[in-house]
Formats: sequence, structure tokens, C-alpha cells
Amino acid sequence: MKARDHAPQRSFDGSMEQLPIFLDIRDKRVVVVGGGTAAARKADHALRAGARVTVLADSVNDDFKEWADHPNLTVLSETPRKEHFQGAILAYGAAEDREIDLKVHALARDAGTLVNIVDSPDYCDFVTPAIVDRDPLLIAISSSGTSPILARIIKARLETMLPSAYGRLARFVGELRGRVMEAITDGPARRRFWERIIDGPVADLVLAGATEKAEATLNSELEASRREAARPTVGEVYLVGAGPGDPDLLTFRALRLIQRADVVLYDRLISDCLLNLVRRDAERIYVGKMNRDHTMPQEDISELMVRLAKEGKRVLRLKGGDPFIFGRGGEEIERLAHAEVPFQVVPGITAATGASAYAGIPLTHRDHAQACVFVTGHGKNGRLDLDWKTLLQPAQTVVVYMGLSMLPELTREFLARGADPNLPVAVVENATRRSQRVVTGTVTDIADKVAEAGIEAPALTILGTVVTLRARLNWYHPSSAASDEGDCLHAMPFDPVETSEFA
Ligand code: SAH
Repeated sequence: MKARDHAPQRSFDGSMEQLPIFLDIRDKRVVVVGGGTAAARKADHALRAGARVTVLADSVNDDFKEWADHPNLTVLSETPRKEHFQGAILAYGAAEDREIDLKVHALARDAGTLVNIVDSPDYCDFVTPAIVDRDPLLIAISSSGTSPILARIIKARLETMLPSAYGRLARFVGELRGRVMEAITDGPARRRFWERIIDGPVADLVLAGATEKAEATLNSELEASRREAARPTVGEVYLVGAGPGDPDLLTFRALRLIQRADVVLYDRLISDCLLNLVRRDAERIYVGKMNRDHTMPQEDISELMVRLAKEGKRVLRLKGGDPFIFGRGGEEIERLAHAEVPFQVVPGITAATGASAYAGIPLTHRDHAQACVFVTGHGKNGRLDLDWKTLLQPAQTVVVYMGLSMLPELTREFLARGADPNLPVAVVENATRRSQRVVTGTVTDIADKVAEAGIEAPALTILGTVVTLRARLNWYHPSSAASDEGDCLHAMPFDPVETSEFA
């Protein structure tokens, strides 16, 4: 049985208010009702997309002058009738007269034509997005009607981010697509080829205007890929630390590899919004807790990674926090090294530093702690097995991972071994996420306070006088109504790229 059959219900794609599509309206008929500026803009876009446009208006203003003689434009001084809409693919109501526009809506609906009444979201089958035009590259932005201004601001940002030469790059790629398709028949190999081209020196040359040189470089790359395709390819494994939850805390390298992977292995600590950064056509395999206490054995995870990599896939192993801190990352890749599967490791922000920063508790501080110890509070047979002497050293901070259920015993042991009963302690739940909660107290009362607050995993315990600094340094105030899905909003520098389009 495939591991992901056990996956808990998660929504990878989420629901969308609208379906974004790009419509081919060449030689199809579009009806625009109205003769003002808004109508002119709609007619302009439709004409530029190659449609035959019928404008219904008593008179048209100067905005229409530009295409007065356009062969695809017909202006009729007629009242909208049923026949006007039959066989039309789109209709716009821009008469700026409520009665006429509502009539347009009804007539279009009857004719089965998709209709948009300007400035009336309730009467629109489709919306016209803000666009960034780098012909043939076209980016459409919609806020699903919530805020056209936001869409416009994002448009402005993209305009500055994408040099106009990107249009040239898209054309360059488009012209060579057929040749590459013939030369590299294997889909994944072709995708890797395009990624190398579009994200590498060839693209730089095109953007710099050196098209001939770019083509020469591309040809030698193509030759190399052909040779590479002839022998069996081994993929690669990326062991990536995804940080404690806030996707903004990913490294650039993590993000790049996340978007490059063909298959991703993840577990419970990985939030949906991190998973949403994975390419949409990548396979997702859940290898976390299958049921209450049965996790996929480590050897099976490693075995699975070896098998997938040997199939030539780029395998992403996403781990919460840092892969080498209580993450068993080392164990997972030992098997890879043995099987000679190439791998790379990307460090992540570990829960301790994430919690420290977002709770306003520095782990070291000249007045409080000159050392910091990370331990795991996993009990053996329900008993903590820790080096208490080391933990009770003065002027140091102790951070306990996985210690929630063992917290009463941990604090009892501290007290029994001579800790100051007033030693400050903080427990941070869901560190760095919007749902972060922090409970502070002393080693004497923290266990009760945590139970009372109903703190749940993942949570981390920080012991030491640095905890008192939180009173002054706490800066992170996620709104109480916030949910972790909200994290996704500010996270994405760009949407997962659908590279398969180029394959
Ligand atoms: N490799 C991870 C740790 C995995 S062990 C890292 O470097 O962070 C799992 C434990 O990490 C949890 O039981 C909890 O104690 C801690 N943890 C992970 N994410 C956390 C978060 N967002 N908030 C609080 N604790 C977290």
C-alpha cells in the first residue's frame, strides 16, 4: 500500500473563488454594449486578442477613434437584441445605464454567452484581471473581486520585477520548444533541461540581447542532455529544513529546491501552506504518524527515498525546523550515502531559535546566560533520561524539545535537584505561527499553568532567567482571530511555477 494512502485529510489545492484560464477568442465574436471609455477598453482588449467585435451604441466617444477602420470591428447603432448575442463567446455590458446593462446580462445569459457587466460583480460570469503584458508572456492577477487596488499594486510590483526582455525570452523558448521536444523524448529529462535553460546562463544571454550566443549555448546543452538521457539517470535527494512553521522563515535555497522536486516526503510538522509551495504536479507522500503511535519506520523512509531517487526523481524530504536537530536527518541520509544516491542538506531555523525570536526570549544574554543547551525530553518508558547535572548549571538556558507530556516530571526533577523554585520557564506552542501561544511561569507552577491553558504539541520549553526578558522584548502579537492559513498570505514571493508547461 502506498504510504500516502494513510495521509490525513488535507487540502493541497484549496478552493478558489474563480477558475483562472486564458481564453483563445481569435475569430470568435465578442459583443460590447456601450460607447464610453470602459466599453472602449473592453473592445480594445478583445480586438488585440483577435476577436471580431460588435459594439452596440448610439454613439462612440473618441477612445474608439484609434480603431475606426479596424477590419474586425463593427459598430452598430442598435438596441441590444437576442440575435446580437447568438454565437458570441463573450459579452460586456458597459452602457453605464443600469436598465440596458441588466438587459444585456439577461440576453447574454439566454444565449449561453459569458457576460461581464462593468463594475457589477454580481452580474459577472468572469472578471477582467489586472495584466502584466510581456508578450507572449502574460500574467493575470485577480483578487477575486475583493480588492482591485491590491491587484493593481501587485501588478505594479511585477512590472518592476520583470524586465521587458522576458517577452523575448518567452518567444525564444517558444520557438525552440518543438525541436527540444523531438530531441529529448523523456518528460522529466526535458523538464530538467528547460529548468537549466530558463534558470541559467542561456536565459541570461537572451535577456541581455545576445540571442545568437544563447542559441549556440542552448545547442550544446541540448547535445549534453541527449547524451545524459542515453544513460540511466539517478535523481537526487534534498533533505530540507522547513523551519518552525512561518513560511517566511524558509531559506532561498529551501524554496528553490521545494519548487524543483518531483516528489515530496513530509510529516506532521509541515503545514499546508508550506506544502502549497511544492510544484502542483509533484507527488506528495505522507510519512508521518499513520495512527496514534505508529510512524513509518525510519528504514522504510530511507528505503523509499533510495528507490525514488534511483527512478531518476528529485526527492524532497521536508523536515520541520532543522533536519539535523532532533530530526533524524542524519539517520535518513546514511542509507542514501551507502546506496550512493546524491543528496544535499539545507539547514532550517530550528524550533528553539524560532521560538526564542518570536517569543522575545533571547537564548543567551550577557546578564543572564552564557550558554544554551538543547535537549530532547522524550521519556524512556515514561521516565526522563537526562544528564541533570549539566542541565542545572547556572547562567545557562535550557531548551527542551518534545517535552510537553514530560513537563511535570521535568520540573519535579529540577526542583528535587536543587533548582531555584522561582527559576523562570516559558512554554511556546506553535512557535512562529499565527496560532503561537506562550505561557510563562516558574519551574514550580509552569506544569499546572500549561495544563490549564490546554497547550498542545508542537511546543517547546525554555528554562532560564532569560525568560524574564520577554516582559520587555515581546514584539510578536498575532491577532487572536488569526489562523495559520493566514500565514500563507504573506509567504509567497511567487506562486509555485508550473514547469510542466514546458515539458
Ligand atoms: N527538527 C526540528 C525538531 C523536531 S522534534 C527542529 O529543528 O525544530 C519535534 C519537536 O520540536 C516538537 O515536539 C517541539 O518540541 C519542537 N517544535 C517543532 N516545531 C515547533 C513549533 N513550531 N513550535 C514549538 N515547538 C516546535
